[in-house]
Amino acid sequence: MAKKQFKTESKRILDLMINSIYTHKEIFLRELVSNASDALDKLAYKALTDDGVGLSRSDFKIDLSVDKEARTLTVSDNGIGMTQEELENNLGVIARSGSLQFKEEMAKAEGEKDTDTDIIGQFGVGFYSAFMVADHITVISRAYGSDTAYRWESSGADGYTIEPCEKDAAGTDIILHIKEDGEEEQYSQYLDPNRIQRLVKKYSDYIRYPIRMDLEKSRMKEKPADAGEDYKPEWETYVENTTLNSMIPLWQRPKKDVTQEEYDRFYQDKFGDFEAPLATVTVNAEGAVSYKALLFIPSRTPYDFYTRDFEKGLQLYSSGVLIMDKCGDLLPEHFRFVRGVVDTPDVSLNISRELLQHTRQLKVISTNLEKKIKSELSRLQKDDAEKYEKFWHAFGRNLKYGVVSDYGVHKDMLLELLMFPSSHSDKLTSLAQYKERMAEDQQFIYYAVGEDAGKLSKLPQAERILDKGYEILYLTEDVDEFCMQTIGEYEGKKLKSIDDEDALPETEEEKKAAEEKTEEAKDVLSFLKETLGDKVSDVRLSKILKSHPVCMTADGPVSLEMEKYFRRSGEMMPGMTAQRVLELNPESGAFTALKRAVESDKELAKKYAELLYCQALLIADLPLEDPSAYTDLVCSLMQ
Ligand code: ADP
Repeated sequence: MAKKQFKTESKRILDLMINSIYTHKEIFLRELVSNASDALDKLAYKALTDDGVGLSRSDFKIDLSVDKEARTLTVSDNGIGMTQEELENNLGVIARSGSLQFKEEMAKAEGEKDTDTDIIGQFGVGFYSAFMVADHITVISRAYGSDTAYRWESSGADGYTIEPCEKDAAGTDIILHIKEDGEEEQYSQYLDPNRIQRLVKKYSDYIRYPIRMDLEKSRMKEKPADAGEDYKPEWETYVENTTLNSMIPLWQRPKKDVTQEEYDRFYQDKFGDFEAPLATVTVNAEGAVSYKALLFIPSRTPYDFYTRDFEKGLQLYSSGVLIMDKCGDLLPEHFRFVRGVVDTPDVSLNISRELLQHTRQLKVISTNLEKKIKSELSRLQKDDAEKYEKFWHAFGRNLKYGVVSDYGVHKDMLLELLMFPSSHSDKLTSLAQYKERMAEDQQFIYYAVGEDAGKLSKLPQAERILDKGYEILYLTEDVDEFCMQTIGEYEGKKLKSIDDEDALPETEEEKKAAEEKTEEAKDVLSFLKETLGDKVSDVRLSKILKSHPVCMTADGPVSLEMEKYFRRSGEMMPGMTAQRVLELNPESGAFTALKRAVESDKELAKKYAELLYCQALLIADLPLEDPSAYTDLVCSLMQ
């Protein structure tokens, strides 16, 4: 029979498994058992609507057996099975959901061989991990609905064979030929039923199907009827087929009986994350809709989180039967990062395929879960700033999208959870913390929008606000400004951009003085407007500058930062450009020089006008229309 080759990316992982020096090889059993459990889930689900399955819930099981002579350990299930094609596709390549991530981690670890082996433990790599303990693997599988079974065999990296064979019923047997004991590793331990029992207890206790194995037990022999006075009790051994796991899913167990370690392991195993979750939330609700939920907030952003590929949702069980792997209706968009399980008897099974019929129940659950998640996040924010900051870095952006989306209907709920960099310290601040620090005479909550906090703090517009001792929130993400506009105000305090002319309220005297100054500068201003033409919609004396000579601001609904955002997103359309306003500081030396030139040397004044305009663009981080013309201009002024 011709050997088929593994796909290249799988080969690399296989090599790693076969030659693994990883010390926790025992995890292979957990991987095989959870695959078997998934296969049972699939057939149990089919059985709900297909009488042909002919099995009821209590018939599904996982059987383990060892043969010490033949050095084999077998994991069997009577689940959905695999067709020939599925055997090739599933076992010939890495099918695992997290495989892409795994490969990325592998690439990073390339060359550092210690990290290599760590990854195995963190991830678990499914079926392949069996090659850590076996030198030959046989998979016999018959798919539900098919008459033929197939035998897949491989000794590792040199490929695999596949051929038809006999099997009575649907399901899969995985037969591991266990490696010979080596100097470092006693592989024979995986042929010891007691060792296997302990491993099942440790890693797979919560699996909801019985995991059964023949165990040798001992008992006292019955006392013979004719036993005399001096009869000594005798012991005998016998074999009993035993269920090894407690079968109670984690979410059905009272929280006080479960350790955080168990929760963490469950999460990592079920959702393929190599980091423990940041927080775990359990819910036990009774009422109009009864359900149990076990939710996790991950510690890091999934690699595809901000892409179209990411699918939100919780696993939905109905009285222990998995109905849906990712039920999106259970989670609002803004909490789409949450992973977990919901189990309810109130979504009935026979019409399960029409989940639409259950929208009312799902709605009740999702509204409730939203509140729970929110309060867990608030608790973290209050009690564990460090953890919350970690959360914020992973998913904060998503909460801001939540504020902006659906015309802002979620903003009140999310407001308290938002965090921002600010001028106060290098720690993030919430709006509540900002408000508490506000000066008595401070009317607004100030914010500045731009690329990074360092640049923002040096903006000419920021200077006068900071000089007053007022704090500024530094907004550096695309969505921030839209977020601020949606929020509008926080507990009676308006959010105000430091670019706004009225960011600092003026007294009557200040207003009058400003009008007089504008009157004095009338000629200079109109000269500039004329010279710059369409490039700017207005030229004004600035109220926001302190020591810098110029800055650029915008009139109308589109701010400069929004224009930049539209440019970046490639969605530029007419009407999406900001109406630029060139602002001048009449107290600056540059202004005095400009004024003199306007009065005496119009050619020089034109050059100054162009120069100031370009400088305003540069400070605002906007592109110069013609950079080389600008440098020529500067050089000509030097001569
Ligand atoms: P993962 O379980 O993470 O997808 P694995 O390498 O463990 O990765 O398994 C690959 C695929 O092979 C599974 O997704 C499943 O489709 C199939 N598979 C593995 N074991 C079984 C089994 N016992 N019964 C049916 N299908 C299985």
